[in-house]
Amino acid sequence: MPRKVCNFCGRGEREVELLITGINGFICETCARQAYEIAVMQGAGKESSNKQKESTFKLKKVPKPREIKAYLDEYIIGQDEAKRHLAVSVYNHYKRLQQPDSEDGVEIEKSNIIMVGSTGTGKTLLARTIAKLLDVPFTIVDATVFTEAGYVGEDVESILSRLLQVADFDVPAAERGIVFIDEIDKIARKSDNPSITRDVSGEGVQQGLLKLLEGTMVNVPPKGGRKHPDQDYIHVDTKNILFICGGAFDGIERKIAQRLNTHTVGYNSVQNVRNIDKEDLMQYVLPQDLKSFGLIPEIIGRLPGLTYLKPLDREALRRILVEPKNSIVKQYVKLFEMDGIKLTFTDETLDFIVDKAVEYKLGARGLRSIVESVMMDAMFEIPSRRIKKFDVTIDYAKEQLDKAHLHKLETA
Ligand code: ADP
Repeated sequence: MPRKVCNFCGRGEREVELLITGINGFICETCARQAYEIAVMQGAGKESSNKQKESTFKLKKVPKPREIKAYLDEYIIGQDEAKRHLAVSVYNHYKRLQQPDSEDGVEIEKSNIIMVGSTGTGKTLLARTIAKLLDVPFTIVDATVFTEAGYVGEDVESILSRLLQVADFDVPAAERGIVFIDEIDKIARKSDNPSITRDVSGEGVQQGLLKLLEGTMVNVPPKGGRKHPDQDYIHVDTKNILFICGGAFDGIERKIAQRLNTHTVGYNSVQNVRNIDKEDLMQYVLPQDLKSFGLIPEIIGRLPGLTYLKPLDREALRRILVEPKNSIVKQYVKLFEMDGIKLTFTDETLDFIVDKAVEYKLGARGLRSIVESVMMDAMFEIPSRRIKKFDVTIDYAKEQLDKAHLHKLETA
C-alpha cells in the first residue's frame, strides 16, 4: 500500500498530527489551516465577512426565575414585585433565544419591561445586579442624552454602539443582549395633547426608540455618537434584544389618583377606593397612566411588563445599610480590615444615620454620603495610628456630621 502523505507539503502520516483523507489524496492540518487563511484573505465566504468578527457566543447555564430572584435578594432589599417580574422576563428572554426555528408556528415574543419608581429605590441597582448574573452582553444607557436626528445630542442608535462595545463587537452576541434604558420618563411628551407643536426631545425620540423596541435592522456607527456619511456601519438586528426601561415618573401619582377617582362608579368601587393606600399610589400604576404621563401608546405596547418599585421606608433603609452582600457598612468594615482594624457601628449609630437620611429626604442614596461624612476623619487619621479597633458611637457620628456640615457652611 502506498505511503500516505500530504499532497500539499509532502509530509508523511507520522510527521503530522492529522491527515485528512480526500477522494484522491490527503491534506495535513497545517496545510488545511493555511488554505483556509488564504481563502479568507481572498474574500471567500463573503456572506459572513460583514460580521465584525467570528461569534463565540453561546448560552451557558440558564438560571431559573427563583434562582434569579434569590440572587437579586442578596444585593437588593425588598422590591419583590419588581424582582419577580425581572426574573421571569430575563428567564423567558433566555428561552426565546434557545427556541428552535418554529415548526408549529408558535414564536415566543419578547417581553420588554418598564419599571416605575422614585429615584433611589433601586432600579439601576436591580439592572446592574442582574447583569452580573447573566452571560449575555448588557449595557445601561440614559434616555436623557438622546435627541431626534438632526438635533444636538446622541441618536437613539448609539444604544447599540454601546452594546456592541460591551459584546466586544461580536454582533450575534450583541443581538441577544439586554439594554437598560434609564430615565425613560424624561423623553415623555411634555403635554398630553398630541397636536401641540413638535416636541423635539420627546416624541421624536420615542419614535426612534420604538423602532428599536419593535425589532429592526439598524446601521450602527461602531464608535457611537452621531451618524456620519463616510462611516462604515455595522448592521445589528434588534429583534432579540431585551429592553428594560426605568423611570421615576415624578408626578404620575396624580394621574393615577385621577384615574382611580374617575373610575369609581358603583358600590364595589367605592369600597375599593377606601382600601387604597394613598401613601403609595405607584403600586396601582397601569399602562394608561404612562400614556397620560406622555409616553406614546406604541411605546407602551412594546413594554408589556409594567412593574413598580416601592418607596423605601425607614425599616428598608436600615436594612440597606447592613444587609446586602456589599452593603455600605460591610464596605467600610472591609476598608478598615485591610489596615488590620476592626470597625464596628453601634445600633444607635445606625439608627441615627437612617434618621438623617430620612430627614434629608435623600433615600438610599443619602446613606452613603452620610456614612462618608461620618467616617472621613477616621479614614484620614486611623491608618497612621496604632489601634486595632474602632467603634463608631452615636456621639462620634453626631459630632462628625455637625463638623462636616459646619465645614460646608464655612466654605459655602
Ligand atoms: P434608581 O435607579 O432607582 O434611581 P439606584 O438603583 O441608583 O436608584 O439606587 C441608588 C443607590 O441606593 C444604590 O446604589 C444602592 O446603594 C441603594 N439602594 C437603593 N435601593 C436599594 C435597595 N432596594 N436595596 C439595596 N440598596 C438600595
